Amino acid sequence: MSVEQFATRHIGPGADDERRMLEAVGHDSIDELMDAAIPEVIRWHGTLDLPEAATEAEAIAELRALAARNTVAVSMIGLGYHGTHTPAVIRRNVLEDPAWYTAYTPYQPEISQGRLEALLNFQTMVTDLTGLATANASMLDEGTAAAEAMTLARRASKSKSRVYVVDADALPQTIAVITSRAEPLGIEVRVVDVERDELPGEFFGLHLQYPGASGAVRDHAGLVESAHAVGALVTVAADLLALTLLRAPGEIGADIAAGTTQRFGVPMGFGGPHAGYLAVRSGLERMLPGRLVGVSRDADGNPAYRLALQTREQHIRREKATSNICTAQVLLAVMAGMYAVYHGPDGLREIATRTHAMAARLAAGLRAGGVDVADVAFFDTVTARVPGAAAQVVAAAAERGVNLRLVDADRVGVSCDETTTLAHLAQVWAAFGVPAFDGAVDAALPVDLARTSDFLTHPVFRSHHSETAMLRYLRRLSDFDYALDRGMIPLGSCTMKLNATTEMEPVSWAEFANVHPFAPDAQTAGYREMIGQLESWLAEVTGYDAVSVQPNAGSQGELAGLLAIRSYHASRGETHRDVCLIPSSAHGTNAASAVMAGMRVVVVACDDNGNVDLVDLDAKIDKHRDALAAIMVTYPSTHGVYETGIASLCAKVHDAGGQVYVDGANLNALVGFAKPGRFGADVSHLNLHKTFCIPHGGGGPGVGPVAVRAHLAPFLPGDPLGAHADATPAISAAKYGSAGILPIPWAYLRMMGAEGLTRATGVAVLAANYVAARLRGHYPVLYAGNKGLVAHECILDLRPLTKATGVSVDDVAKRLIDYGFHAPTMSFPVAGTLMVEPTESEDLAELDRFCDAMIAIRAEIEQVAAGQWPAGDNPLTNAPHTAAMVSGDEWPHPYPRSVGAYPAGVDRAGKYWPPVRRIDGAYGDRNLVCSCPSPEAFED
Ligand SMILES: *Cc1c(COP(=O)(O)O)cnc(C)c1O
Repeated sequence: MSVEQFATRHIGPGADDERRMLEAVGHDSIDELMDAAIPEVIRWHGTLDLPEAATEAEAIAELRALAARNTVAVSMIGLGYHGTHTPAVIRRNVLEDPAWYTAYTPYQPEISQGRLEALLNFQTMVTDLTGLATANASMLDEGTAAAEAMTLARRASKSKSRVYVVDADALPQTIAVITSRAEPLGIEVRVVDVERDELPGEFFGLHLQYPGASGAVRDHAGLVESAHAVGALVTVAADLLALTLLRAPGEIGADIAAGTTQRFGVPMGFGGPHAGYLAVRSGLERMLPGRLVGVSRDADGNPAYRLALQTREQHIRREKATSNICTAQVLLAVMAGMYAVYHGPDGLREIATRTHAMAARLAAGLRAGGVDVADVAFFDTVTARVPGAAAQVVAAAAERGVNLRLVDADRVGVSCDETTTLAHLAQVWAAFGVPAFDGAVDAALPVDLARTSDFLTHPVFRSHHSETAMLRYLRRLSDFDYALDRGMIPLGSCTMKLNATTEMEPVSWAEFANVHPFAPDAQTAGYREMIGQLESWLAEVTGYDAVSVQPNAGSQGELAGLLAIRSYHASRGETHRDVCLIPSSAHGTNAASAVMAGMRVVVVACDDNGNVDLVDLDAKIDKHRDALAAIMVTYPSTHGVYETGIASLCAKVHDAGGQVYVDGANLNALVGFAKPGRFGADVSHLNLHKTFCIPHGGGGPGVGPVAVRAHLAPFLPGDPLGAHADATPAISAAKYGSAGILPIPWAYLRMMGAEGLTRATGVAVLAANYVAARLRGHYPVLYAGNKGLVAHECILDLRPLTKATGVSVDDVAKRLIDYGFHAPTMSFPVAGTLMVEPTESEDLAELDRFCDAMIAIRAEIEQVAAGQWPAGDNPLTNAPHTAAMVSGDEWPHPYPRSVGAYPAGVDRAGKYWPPVRRIDGAYGDRNLVCSCPSPEAFED
């Protein structure tokens, strides 16, 4: 392959590396290895029908051409998506900085203090502005946050009612997502004009929008009281910018607040990604879904951050789970939190005041010109009545480069934001046919709802307002962290591969970044063509007939796929099919998604080799034959093995009338060699943030497309703005979900081509088998399939060593930090083990550095076993070692400082130093603190 070909840059090992790796594994070629590893029953022997691989320059040129077919208009549509100025210092040093975007979810807190602090800023920002006690570290979007608020209310309310009341002035896409989530759970959604109509006699929850979709700002205190009187909980979906001027939801008695932080510096991206938020009053924090960052302390008693309350994906409580959210929107939450840090409370108030002043001027001008403007208090959005002429006004504005909201035939909505100028107002007035206006204007904010409480009082929101200070704060935090820009992240099940710069660059282009999700089709031709191509390429790769990119995480793809199965059974009059079989080794999201899709989870055992136990499967099918809806299996299995029984598994389930869901998160082991849509599955989700190069962003964004065979295609997600009509579910708030990052997988597929993709899979499997071969003599490799080979990952069993020496899987994971590595996946899918997925992007030198470190650690464990080091005081139990620790004036440990700090093979000049020692997670759970601690907490 020539240097021009991107595949040579994406794939780490070159020809020499490959030869040496094959030798270690004992095979002559990658083809031969793959023939041996992959069972013939699933093998596909064709060549992927994809366009010939483009070079990086060609791919960028094609994306430029697609981008040029999008029109970037001035967006005044509103509905939860607003223009915003991303501070350049944040764009370049967060969104475009691999130190932030290539980081993994902070399950290893000692190497994640930077992003954990950034997320704590985000949580503090949300709790302060909403006036509630606890906020989580982001939701997928406003619609899904509101839907999670509904189910939280159902769990927390003492009311027996199944009725959930939704304000008719809520965002239409939010109503669609809530309705889609409610239906399988037997919740009845009643949309009520809460201003005019009576509330029902009984209901368990009430969803209010503040300000409303129409722009109206209403005092909801009376409604909150009525809801509480019948035992219902109240969610207020609030605009955080408006809350700098308006009384907080917590101050009017709301139990929950939900919404988006998009307008805090995150581009619209044709629908996403942005960070949704969810906050709760005190007493509900232990019911909060999603990841929650909290303060704890390290081995020296210093404050340190980590995920609180075991909010880890692998520990999602399976069928007892209440939410399936796993990957969230960390990178975007970091941006929004930093926007608040950069502007501070006064800056945010100034931005809000200016935004309001623009809206007030706009309304005054319309009224002066004789247009009927709704006579209500408002913040940034004005609704004008132009009987019969709304479409004409919207069209006239579009001609002037401004998008307005067509509410109905008689009404037009106009939303102002941080980017609105007087010139924009002039265009809007012209579109309405009224003269420009420069008279005096009064504020239209309700005086009795004016905010009087302080917010963002923590010093972090007052200390970084100059660009110099902000730049250094971002650098300080990212230096705390270990991301792919420092070294390998060998995480099983998560495929931390290269996120190429060429793939990332288009994400910041205005033609992709600054497009509203509800912009007219004529302005989004480039986007829709790109998405159509991506969906068709993904269909080709997976062997399915139709793909929807709407789900904005793997978990959401699971829900979409299971809802499609549910609708399919219903369409055949088989609504009684509600049992979902799930192997005991499954990822936690699987069972949680099944519960959310209204299914009953029945667990199928695994045998000693980690495969689905086909005897138990027969028994479970027999028992539930008539009620069988689906089986949900991961392939290759979460044990990293190509199970040979997959084809017969599919056949058995189909014979019983069930559908087969293959969790496609492990597709990195299949691309080019097997197609789930061809070997018997009906539906899969893919994780574009694993196999297809969207970076993990420290825990999101992600995209989890759902792919189906033709019979399920009619039940794929629909347009949230039209979903009621056509009965397809709204999985995300925007039709194409996190469209703004779809150029990444598009570019990956475009530049790899069939040959590059297939080779990548082969090298990924080779790398996993190489690691297994090198480490097998030191740690047992737990499962293997055909001919002793693993798939794209391998599980190292620490349990015998732990039993003999007391050295735990935790100790090894933390000791790896001293050696300059991110730990592999710990204790999933098997407790007491490490799962390693090296991917195709790591070269042999890096693979060897990792294997050497693991072997050296094994020797250290031997020294503990031999009694040379005491069980409670050795380099493993004391890991990770900080610079402060090893340079301290006292050193009471029975091994030299250099052994702690610079174990064998560590490059002294390039050493990564964790900022804290090992963190005590349990302490933080007992003393739950989920906002920024006071500076005094850091004093010695
Ligand atoms: C990552 C993963 C998921 C969940 O995907 P998210 O994007 O985090 O929601 C589901 N199943 C498996 C096997 C996974 O590895």
